[in-house]
Amino acid sequence: MKKLIVGNWKMNPASLRAAVELSRKIQAFARRRKNVSVVICPPAPFLGSISGISGAQDVSVEKEGAHTGEISAEMAKSAGAAYAIIGHSERRLRGDTNDIVNLKLKRALSAGLTPILCVGERERDQNEHYLSVISSEVRHALLGVPKNKVSKIIFAYEPVWAIGKGSSPLNADEAFHMGIFIRKVISDIVGDSAAKRARILYGGSVEPKNAHEFFSVGKVDGLLVGRESLSVANFSEIIAHAAKN
Ligand code: PEP
Repeated sequence: MKKLIVGNWKMNPASLRAAVELSRKIQAFARRRKNVSVVICPPAPFLGSISGISGAQDVSVEKEGAHTGEISAEMAKSAGAAYAIIGHSERRLRGDTNDIVNLKLKRALSAGLTPILCVGERERDQNEHYLSVISSEVRHALLGVPKNKVSKIIFAYEPVWAIGKGSSPLNADEAFHMGIFIRKVISDIVGDSAAKRARILYGGSVEPKNAHEFFSVGKVDGLLVGRESLSVANFSEIIAHAAKN
């Protein structure tokens, strides 16, 4: 299966013009790498204007109606999104509980978007309590999701402590073990064959210098990239590493 590289631009860049330009340059590079899929998640107002495959950074729990400032999954889809990040830690920090994540995931699926479900612990503890945090985030998110839809979901393991400026990434060997752990949790819910097909990405301080290891040692199916997806040179280098693996 093709490796998947997702760029989460967060609340960047500042203008539509800059977003169009950035996506155009990234796509010019990505188009030549046939064995990699690249998805860019820009701020919602830019969804309809950027080049290539795009994703929303979030969707509303609501379907439609009087919800000022919200963006529905259907709207994101009709604006051009094919994917939607669900449960990103920055949304969880602003109040997205596991229940809300579950509702958003179902909204995304109903609208025909491919959800990229983010899970990850805020901190690690020696008693390995963090593993139960992750398994409960996965289990909760999948509550009421039909088995045949689970295979459409992309899972992104993003330890929160590894995300953002000043953080250090997880080591690739650990990413390998976490991939196995998350697949086991999925398998307990929907069975072995669907779990084998599930795609599991890693995210958190991915850079050109560590991207290769996540594929070669971590055996990840792809990467979710924040900061470095705003740099054409660095993001292209990460895409190139995915293409080689
Ligand atoms: C993220 O926010 O999902 C992320 C992975 O960010 P960064 O790559 O900047 O750590």
